[in-house]
Amino acid sequence: MKTPFVTKAQLDKITASYPTPFHLYDEKGMRKNARDSYAAFSWNPGFQEYFAVKATPNPAILKLLKEEGCGADCSSLVELMLAERCGFKGPQIMFSSNNTLAEEYQLADKLGAIINLDDLTHVEFLEESIGHIPETIFCRYNPGGVFTLGEGKDGLQVMDTPGEAKYGMTRPQLAEAFRLLKAKGARYFGIHAFLASNTISNDYYPELAGILFQLAAELKAETGCDIRYINLSGGIGVPYRPEEEANDIAVIGAGVRRKFEEILVPAGMGHVALCSELGRFMTAPYGCLVTKVLHFKHIYKEYAGVDACAADLMRPAVYGAYHHITVSGKEDAPCCRKVDVTGSLCENCDKFAVDRMLPELERGDLLVIHDTGAHGHAMGYNYNGKLRSAELLLREDGSVSLIRRAETPEDYFATAIWQ
Ligand SMILES: *Cc1c(COP(=O)(O)O)cnc(C)c1O
Repeated sequence: MKTPFVTKAQLDKITASYPTPFHLYDEKGMRKNARDSYAAFSWNPGFQEYFAVKATPNPAILKLLKEEGCGADCSSLVELMLAERCGFKGPQIMFSSNNTLAEEYQLADKLGAIINLDDLTHVEFLEESIGHIPETIFCRYNPGGVFTLGEGKDGLQVMDTPGEAKYGMTRPQLAEAFRLLKAKGARYFGIHAFLASNTISNDYYPELAGILFQLAAELKAETGCDIRYINLSGGIGVPYRPEEEANDIAVIGAGVRRKFEEILVPAGMGHVALCSELGRFMTAPYGCLVTKVLHFKHIYKEYAGVDACAADLMRPAVYGAYHHITVSGKEDAPCCRKVDVTGSLCENCDKFAVDRMLPELERGDLLVIHDTGAHGHAMGYNYNGKLRSAELLLREDGSVSLIRRAETPEDYFATAIWQ
């Protein structure tokens, strides 16, 4: 069972001041999770989480995570600008981009961000763009093929296909990039890889760590490069479905530690600092989309129409992603009605749920669409003239702050050239 982090009494109070729909974030949950994540890796002295800005690019959220010790993982010019405006400085910013623009490398360099190269050809492109090679540089690895985890009697836990992914360098390219970068003056090296997304498994990070630690030991021997950092990137998932079990970051941290002690310490690399670029895991469960039931429609199926639409949360429409829905105040009521929960876009994929069993609904009910704290508001768009919703932060003391206002028609019209 999934319980919302906000009660009906709280929501009634919030909706008296802020019209639905809106994304609501839970400061308490987010801070606790960030602390637990740091605690899980406290055995590694240099550990640094770089929050993947793309997941929740709101200044209030970024500052909150910064207070918990997080850096910012950026992959575009504007994300770099946002990180700077939020007060992230120098190596608190990781720039993990692909298909990168020269201006992006220039700003990353100007800010003193750590640059993570996605391709061998970017060694020269970076040098052309910024006029030198930074002292510290990371490279992204792609082992190709298919990445699987946990094949056994319990079935497959994780499967993803790095061989189909546009990111990173092959093993020979990685060695060549390190040699080239070293020849051009780089002194400290990092290795990065992201092999599977939204993994519901405590084994993903340890498995990835094993691969990267082994690779680091080999590359050190082959190239003589001083490898100081290993970036495990993102990919730790969250249980969107009520029957899924949440990852345990303490177990994940301990699993990575075992690999570290098994592989890196004997290779004389016990000083290596780990980093992560978690996005979804840091914020997804600590956000929800609150929307009001507007209409019921009975045709060949039963529909409940709400005041949010895919422009507020596109994951269900685009990926068929599951987001759990509870009805505020009816959390314990029997789920006896099968409905499609729809937005109002002129697109039939604009459904937050299909054939979902929900309690008896009434017009005016507030639906809580769970786990929208990452890639929720962030992926919003303006199709059909829909305006992006507000973002609110439920503070630890129970008060609520508006952390992004809803768009107005003037925002929508602002970029048009009126002739
Ligand atoms: C998206 C992304 C992340 C975050 O991934 P999550 O699965 O949300 O943790 C981290 N690093 C890079 C380079 C990314 O593109």
